[in-house]
Amino acid sequence: MSKKQYIVIGLGRFGISVAQTLFNLGHDVLALDSNEESVQDIADTVTHAIVADATDEKSLRAIGIRNFDVAIVSIGENIQSSIMATLLLKELGVKYIITKANNAMHAKVLMKIGADRVVFPEKDMGLRVAHDLVSSNILEYIELSADYSIAEFLCPKVWIGKSLVEIDVRSNYGINVIGIRHNEEIDVSPSAYKKLESGSVIIAIGRIEDLNNLETKIK
Ligand code: ADP
Repeated sequence: MSKKQYIVIGLGRFGISVAQTLFNLGHDVLALDSNEESVQDIADTVTHAIVADATDEKSLRAIGIRNFDVAIVSIGENIQSSIMATLLLKELGVKYIITKANNAMHAKVLMKIGADRVVFPEKDMGLRVAHDLVSSNILEYIELSADYSIAEFLCPKVWIGKSLVEIDVRSNYGINVIGIRHNEEIDVSPSAYKKLESGSVIIAIGRIEDLNNLETKIK
């Protein structure tokens, strides 16, 4: 299997973190920024690092941009550049584009021009930290859109020994269980009739408000 080629554009805090993590996981990562100092700082911890303007079509063509499988655009402050870079990447044939957005309108534009995924790192982290503080049960929280999230939580005590059908999670709580993790094993098509066990982790998708209300409803 060939290795995936990643390009990370914009080396602020988010871009650096994504680039270095992908590299540490064994992937090929090209880090790009228009600021020479930012490029020098990261050069030893990724595959390649180059100085270029991501809104310049010629520069992107020159680095063979269409050969990249995934581009992560992490230009935060300058919304215009973030939009232009995303549009160019799409036009030049990058297969999967993830762009960091600053606000809802920015995100909307990005989706319209072809970003495959839009992330709000500060907002996502804020949500996660807040959930960690108020809830001991929620282990992981991923915001999918303004309305929907995926949450992982410990099987509530009152659910132990019952099946998903008996609990009727969909109509009682408005959520869909998409997986159950027990120790290291994940069951991604959990049987609706299997009894839940103590220590199991439920992975559910649903509206943010339903996931947020879960704990108060279960008690
Ligand atoms: P963070 O909030 O994650 O720290 P910033 O918005 O501060 O992100 O960082 C954005 C980075 O993107 C900066 O390093 C900046 O030099 C870079 N950048 C801005 N515009 C361009 C562009 N047109 N081409 C390449 N890099 C850019």
